[in-house]
Amino acid sequence: VIDLTTVATPARPLRASSIPKFMRCPLNVILSYEADDQPGVAADTGSAVHYAAAVFHKNAKSLRDALKAMRGQASLYPFADLDVAEEHFRGYAEDPRQAAGEVVLCEHKVQVVLDPADEDPTRQPVVINGTLDQIRRKDGVLRLWDIKTGAADGPTMLTDYAYQLAAYQVGATALLGEPVLSAGVIRTKGYLKKRGNPDPIFWEAAWTLEGARRMLRHVVREVANVRAGRVRLTPGPQCHWCPAQGIGSCVSL
Ligand code: SF4
Repeated sequence: VIDLTTVATPARPLRASSIPKFMRCPLNVILSYEADDQPGVAADTGSAVHYAAAVFHKNAKSLRDALKAMRGQASLYPFADLDVAEEHFRGYAEDPRQAAGEVVLCEHKVQVVLDPADEDPTRQPVVINGTLDQIRRKDGVLRLWDIKTGAADGPTMLTDYAYQLAAYQVGATALLGEPVLSAGVIRTKGYLKKRGNPDPIFWEAAWTLEGARRMLRHVVREVANVRAGRVRLTPGPQCHWCPAQGIGSCVSL
């Protein structure tokens, strides 16, 4: 187990993708702090779709080139089901809404640096790192979009990943020096539905940029608790994928 006073410091930033889990049960994330996301078919298939989408937007919006690049880089996502990834991506690339508008940032690293909470014993800034999928400008407004390939419905995705999206939204605002006014997910599973009855693809969250900043204040307070040695332990569905391997083990840590 790591030194708790170093959590979310510049030396050991918090990953944006791990914040939802951190806010459900901080101990879960602390136990797997240095580990990469677990590879697997679903995660790697998602990575392949992300790869194709990045090539698509960076290289002249060509479906054929993006698919060729995705298959050519299979070693980056060794567990991916590339046929399923291709299905997701074909739907994405053939949707005229994906090629419309300006993609201002694509697969871009962001860092969020926040003032610590008053009760934080370390007084160190809270640092969050991540890679956002896309910032698009439409009708003069910047929006964050995160590609999700999972099976959950759109509203569930928005709640499950709210903290992650908020971190990207705030990070991109600082990076661009211009407000990113909204955040949302592009749910590519919707493209797999039979033609003529597609699921909605774009799911935009209801919160504002100020709302995203408020969400991150909750993260800052949770980090202060952890740094002070008050590590919350919250049983829930996340226990099934926790390195503690169940509530029975973690209560005795
Ligand atoms: S087993 Fe459950 S309660 Fe225990 S640390 Fe893991 S996620 Fe938290």
